[in-house]
Amino acid sequence: MNELATLMQPESQSTHTPSVAIIGGGIAGATAAVHMAELGLNVHLIEKGSGLVSGPPICHLHAGGNLYREISTEQCIELLKQSIDTIRLYPQTVNKRPTVIAVPYSDGGSPEELYERLITIQDCYAQLVEKDSANKVLGEPADYYKFYSRDEIEALAELEQPAQPSTIDEWLIPFAKHTDLEVLKFPVVAVQEYGWSVFRIAASATLALEKMPNCQLKTDTQVIGVEESEQGWALECLDSDGQVEFLHVEYLVNACGYETGSIDDLAQKPRERLVEFKAAYVTNWPECQELWPEVIFHGPRGTPNGMAQLTPYPDGIFQLHGMTKDITLFEDGLVASDNASSQPSLPLRLKSKIQKGWDEEVIVERSRRAIEHMSRFIPDYQRAHEFGTPLFGAQQIPGKDDTLRAADVTFEGKHYARVEVVKGSSAYEAAIKLVEQWQLFDYQSQTIEQLHPVTLALTSTEIEQKAKQLAELRTYPQQLAQYYGQ
Ligand SMILES: Cc1cc2nc3c(=O)[nH]c(=O)nc-3n(C[C@H](O)[C@H](O)[C@H](O)COP(=O)(O)OP(=O)(O)OC[C@H]3O[C@@H](n4cnc5c(N)ncnc54)[C@H](O)[C@@H]3O)c2cc1C
Repeated sequence: MNELATLMQPESQSTHTPSVAIIGGGIAGATAAVHMAELGLNVHLIEKGSGLVSGPPICHLHAGGNLYREISTEQCIELLKQSIDTIRLYPQTVNKRPTVIAVPYSDGGSPEELYERLITIQDCYAQLVEKDSANKVLGEPADYYKFYSRDEIEALAELEQPAQPSTIDEWLIPFAKHTDLEVLKFPVVAVQEYGWSVFRIAASATLALEKMPNCQLKTDTQVIGVEESEQGWALECLDSDGQVEFLHVEYLVNACGYETGSIDDLAQKPRERLVEFKAAYVTNWPECQELWPEVIFHGPRGTPNGMAQLTPYPDGIFQLHGMTKDITLFEDGLVASDNASSQPSLPLRLKSKIQKGWDEEVIVERSRRAIEHMSRFIPDYQRAHEFGTPLFGAQQIPGKDDTLRAADVTFEGKHYARVEVVKGSSAYEAAIKLVEQWQLFDYQSQTIEQLHPVTLALTSTEIEQKAKQLAELRTYPQQLAQYYGQ
């Protein structure tokens, strides 16, 4: 790599259009590319896989961070703001249905603990809507959350759900009918935390980038060397035919997800970080004809009573998380960087799952445990069965705090940045920070909609169609790509 700087061909200085290379086409890199390409910059997006946004799953938007009791109110508010901007950028990617948060007796907490934080988040949402009506993407601020007593839930259990639920009460009918209310503390809360389709995000970013000639999208291409030079950065890229290409750009963005540390090592920009491997399971409950909300049953993480989470899709398909070591979490699944390398090293058995996939029997065994875990709260769920490849992967967490959820971008030197999002909704803010820090564009007072005409011209039909193709290609049921909710 020493001769790399001399091999590179500096770009013409006459255009004055800044050139940016983004390594990694997950939600972080793809969103940075979409944003910068919409601004007219000269963007190179380099992804070693065959498509964009195909890393670890993204199933929840986290607009308010209410799924996490352990995080600060500040992080919740940051996630709320970031999520609102993200829906405005990718409006066709969310599944609009509420989330029920229930505290069972097997958990040490109490439902009232959620109350104060919800009021603060609701106030913040109301202010954002007052400031700009385009921020009203989570419904009426007054309906952001609603508490339910046991009597109220029992009354809902007597009702029939309409074909398309429109109120929070209507969404809660299946929960009221099928949940074992004896195991829950009351009240339970319903909050406007929406689902998020990773396949429709992948489709939106891919379709938008394909329409913008100032973005060079290189898939099946791995960056194997980077070197800082006077003019910026030189990159050594290896494509799937074994061809090596050198690229020179002024700015370099490292958006390699859980592999961000490997590029930090090449760039000699050390950084502390954690990496965690996790999985969720795709299941089918064939008898289920109702439209469920998302449901969270709280529990202490990493114990046999860990949180159980039900994420609904069309046609009785549900994704399950169980925050126990033999369902979603894995022994030695959380690893840290050290002095020798910024890249935390996962155990080989977990790396092999990412690179080669899962053994069928492990899929069945872990899915079965996830189903049993859920049926402690929803007894009828016992009738569900596993339904194919789990949603899994490793995610990065910058620093040392494994509860951090709102993180975005860090800069090193003049022209090197790493985007390290823990939640996908932080990706758009990270992109803005890149542009602002490097003074690549003067936003003036343009809105998200004005800044992204190409992305916002995509239709719901073309996005869903592309998303279904991607789901099939990646061996997941098409229901995970379809619209669900209002
Ligand atoms: C089980 C599970 C559930 C999750 N659920 C949610 C959720 O509901 N909501 C949410 O917001 N987040 C969720 N997350 C977290 C979320 O998946 C990640 O934070 C997010 O995908 C990170 O995006 P990214 O773009 O930073 O990284 P990635 O998606 O990992 O993308 C990085 C890309 O870089 C590429 N790359 C790496 N090295 C190179 C190289 N040398 N050259 C070229 N390309 C390279 C990789 O191929 C990859 O495509 C979940 C994570 C897990 C594990």
